[in-house]
Amino acid sequence: MDFKLKLLIEELKSQGIEDKLVLKALEEIPRKLFVPKNLREEAYENHPLHIGHNQTISQPYTTAFMLQNLKLNNNDIVLEIGTGSGWSTALTAYICEKIYSIETIPELSKTAKENIKKTKLKNIKIITGDGSKGLKKYSPYDKIIVNAACSQVPNILISQLKNNGILICPVGNLYEQSLLKIVKEKNNIKTYNLGGFIFVPLVSEEYGF
Ligand code: SAM
Repeated sequence: MDFKLKLLIEELKSQGIEDKLVLKALEEIPRKLFVPKNLREEAYENHPLHIGHNQTISQPYTTAFMLQNLKLNNNDIVLEIGTGSGWSTALTAYICEKIYSIETIPELSKTAKENIKKTKLKNIKIITGDGSKGLKKYSPYDKIIVNAACSQVPNILISQLKNNGILICPVGNLYEQSLLKIVKEKNNIKTYNLGGFIFVPLVSEEYGF
């Protein structure tokens, strides 16, 4: 394993990342394949990096923390809003059965597809468009993950979750959000606040800013 990646994984473990499937995915899906060439040296540093179009590949800790809280299983069908570079998509795909990922910026979804081709993963479908309304066609999902800041909980996404499904999404204002974990249990919705984070804004009439 690349020495810098080994150091990053040790750092993530010290920050509380302990899910074996997530740690294995981080080892097997190199972040350096998903960052622009001129930033490859920084690929294993624990901070976000610019990927163009005013967007970022998230900080490794943030991505690992979100995936750990999704409690991914091998047979999960997942919906992701905000593909970005495709790195979190590929990490998720390494663990789950199938992931549908929606990206609003066509150039980014094209690059994400090219990045993902460099892995051997075949269980990913990238869709270009507005993901804020979810993707009814393949619903319901076991897990839904939103990688951009929402002004309110996107209830439409909860409606596309299976019973016992989990939605992770950052909700707040433009400058800071609380990362929420929402568990759908029959007619009961449980919400857990996982702490403060800063995400790029979701582009959405209803759930954006
Ligand atoms: N986790 C990603 C990665 O590993 O590279 C980074 C995601 S980036 C922080 C958030 C992404 O959400 C951006 O690429 C942005 O264009 C996208 N986005 C924002 N609003 C969206 C929407 N309504 N539908 C789909 N994607 C959206």
